[in-house]
Amino acid sequence: MPIRPVVITGDPVLHRPAAKVTEFNQELKNLVADMHVTMDAAHGVGLAAPQIGVGLRIFTFVFANDDDAPDRGEIINPVLTVGKVSEQNPDPDEESEGCLSVPGLSFPLKRAEWVKIAGFDVDGNPIGWEANGWFARVMQHEYDHLDGKLYVDRLNTKWGRKAKKAIRSEGWGTPGNTWEPGVDEDPFGHGEG
Ligand SMILES: [Zn+2]
Repeated sequence: MPIRPVVITGDPVLHRPAAKVTEFNQELKNLVADMHVTMDAAHGVGLAAPQIGVGLRIFTFVFANDDDAPDRGEIINPVLTVGKVSEQNPDPDEESEGCLSVPGLSFPLKRAEWVKIAGFDVDGNPIGWEANGWFARVMQHEYDHLDGKLYVDRLNTKWGRKAKKAIRSEGWGTPGNTWEPGVDEDPFGHGEG
């Protein structure tokens, strides 16, 4: 179960829709196992397959929640129903989001407070739940990855401009950039656990 390099914004795999999983086999299990160890090594709360360069509709998550969902899991070929998103300005203290594929940066974004998600586990059994609050945000963020969308693509004009500038100044926005969880310095400054 190797830790995989995490792809950084600018690589096409992050910016195009991922393909549906059609075979629930050992290869899929191995991939999902790699996603869990990579997510943990990166101290992430979620990881989508395109973030390790695999264009398939899968994400993993680890997030203690009060919803009727496991604290850790994966969801394959998800369908997402999203509640209403407030049109107010996002609060930088309470609503700043980050992404392992935009390492070290974070910007505020309004998200729906409620979602419903349905899909399949790694064995092909149907699963699903409703999610609220920050857990709903995690579901929306990871689901977006499967449609080739990053949270920075959803920012308002003010924050979107800052994000573009920051991404440019990091030298990203071109294919082939990656970082290695557990090897490179933790971009979000999490201590070694
Ligand atoms: Zn992300």
